[in-house]
Amino acid sequence: MALFDKIEVTPRDAATSAAIDGALSIRRVSKVYDPDGAGVVAVQDCSVEIAPGEFVAIVGPSGCGKSTLLNVLAGFDTLTAGEILLDGNPLASVSRPPQPGPDRVVVFQHGALFPWKTVLENIMYGPLRQKTMTNAAAEEKALDLLRRCGGLDTVASSYPAQLSSGMQRRVEIIRALMNEPKVLLLDEPFRAMDSVSKATMHRHLLEMYSLCRKTIVFITHDLEEAIYLADTVIVMTTRPGTVKKVLKISLPRPRLPQMMSSHEYLEIKRQVAEGVHEEAKKAFERGEREHA
Ligand code: ADP
Repeated sequence: MALFDKIEVTPRDAATSAAIDGALSIRRVSKVYDPDGAGVVAVQDCSVEIAPGEFVAIVGPSGCGKSTLLNVLAGFDTLTAGEILLDGNPLASVSRPPQPGPDRVVVFQHGALFPWKTVLENIMYGPLRQKTMTNAAAEEKALDLLRRCGGLDTVASSYPAQLSSGMQRRVEIIRALMNEPKVLLLDEPFRAMDSVSKATMHRHLLEMYSLCRKTIVFITHDLEEAIYLADTVIVMTTRPGTVKKVLKISLPRPRLPQMMSSHEYLEIKRQVAEGVHEEAKKAFERGEREHA
């Protein structure tokens, strides 16, 4: 399926078709670092079902295993028990060596653009390296994506260092989309940003999401960001991390900043904050005991 069809879609009213793939089944996943030695149980018996095209945010206290789970999903690390399926096909299991693939793309907090390549060259890099597109086709698609994603085609020949960090992150997400992944894995991509830049990034990410409905797994410690962006917020317990609460966010799309003062939003925020703070308190008390 083409990433964007050729019909002009305006982000505000984009009635995108539902995604047909990108279903993730995380089934009783555990991850123990150094199972034969000190044995840090980072994730334990964690199960999550994610529908095609769903935007899921995972929140929880620091050290609860969010990045561990993301790394296992990305195929960067092994799991110790359980299995993960993508569209019903095995993606990760104890007997399966971890394997990253073009069906899942990760965007991290610290950018990974090639500084010596222009924006356009960065975006074209994946399909040219994998020989999945000709140079002309990759260039046409890259420019099309840049244009649709907030008019970034104007910076196509700039180098990353000439862009703001927000623009760099947007280019990275576009680069990820260029490979037509089924799943986008975002690991605190806006963590280091001030609140104004973050709000701008939220608007752009929501526009990109409405344009091409990919499954998104978004790790964050920012509860407001999680609720504002996601369809589902998963609150994890303190280590060993597992699912504590699953909250469906029924705020309509497009999401608008004024929704953040609605009664519904504030009620969800209360529930999410309650769950996270309970777990953070446990983590703190355990730390106190361990250091006593
Ligand atoms: P989060 O992303 O929620 O902050 P992480 O997934 O980074 O949490 O870490 C979960 C737990 O696993 C933490 O206690 C961390 O110290 C531990 N951990 C993470 N990576 C390793 C590793 N490579 N070796 C040993 N322990 C690790």
